[in-house]
Amino acid sequence: MEIYPTPHNVALIDVHHLGRSHVIGAFLLLGDEPALVDPGPASTIPALRAGLSSYGLTVTDLRAIVLTHIHLDHAGATGLLVAENPHLVVHVHERGAPHLIDPSRLLNSATQLYGDRMATLWGDVRPIAAERIRTYTGGETLSLRGHPLRAFDAPGHAKHHLIWLDEANGAAFVGDNTGVRLPGVRMTRPATPPPDVDLDAWAQTHDLLEQLRPQWLCLTHFGAYDDVAFHLTDARLRLRQWAEIVRQSLLAGHDEATGVAALEKALALEAATLSPSEQTAILQQTGPLILSWRGLARYWHKSGALDKGHVAQN
Ligand SMILES: [Zn+2]
Repeated sequence: MEIYPTPHNVALIDVHHLGRSHVIGAFLLLGDEPALVDPGPASTIPALRAGLSSYGLTVTDLRAIVLTHIHLDHAGATGLLVAENPHLVVHVHERGAPHLIDPSRLLNSATQLYGDRMATLWGDVRPIAAERIRTYTGGETLSLRGHPLRAFDAPGHAKHHLIWLDEANGAAFVGDNTGVRLPGVRMTRPATPPPDVDLDAWAQTHDLLEQLRPQWLCLTHFGAYDDVAFHLTDARLRLRQWAEIVRQSLLAGHDEATGVAALEKALALEAATLSPSEQTAILQQTGPLILSWRGLARYWHKSGALDKGHVAQN
């Protein structure tokens, strides 16, 4: 098993989504109350079990599932895991909790994005009883032995996104708020799927992260990074660049295919220094580019920034 650099008392389990490495990782908080931050989708539970067993653990040893947000690639496994272990408690943003209790709306909107690939991609998403869930809005602390986790409201990628800061080791579990990154590669890519992308809120979340000065950024896609200043600067820059490409394309009246092609071209330039296999891998992390496009386009349409007479503020 590949061992990755991680904060003290934290392990990273690659759940090998669709058999691919470095796409989705679950962080395992080690100690007396083992916990998972974002267990991944239901479709990768076998790999999750294998990862746990390499640390001498099973699903029944876990005491908490800590979610950054409820997107299926991060949280889809939670229902099955909770059904298997009566001691498991789920910690999630208040806005995400209703969709864990009744996942039908979440599944409907994911089906609009992924169609008949839903089962292959995400597996069996089970509802979770309300009494197994604790909710957060930011400002609270979840004290797991050895891991005092402070919750911060962190919209931008999703309205129901939290960042969890482990005050014992300086690890910030940032979910998708600082993009995706491949181990060994000094470049980030934004994660901007519909429907919640909000660039103003996202900028504030990035400000917050800068103020918190974490020692590590822990990304589901993929890995823990301690070059925090570089990573944050790069993530902000790329997000602005992608957003601007989409805005310009919408202002020019391009159709979606033309717009996506413009984004593709810009990405090829950005990634020109990567090897072909790295380029493929980082695209797999981001998910289909058309979804990145749609998330940003939806934001711009809602923002009013495309209206005549609007003056861009940044
Ligand atoms: Zn997400």
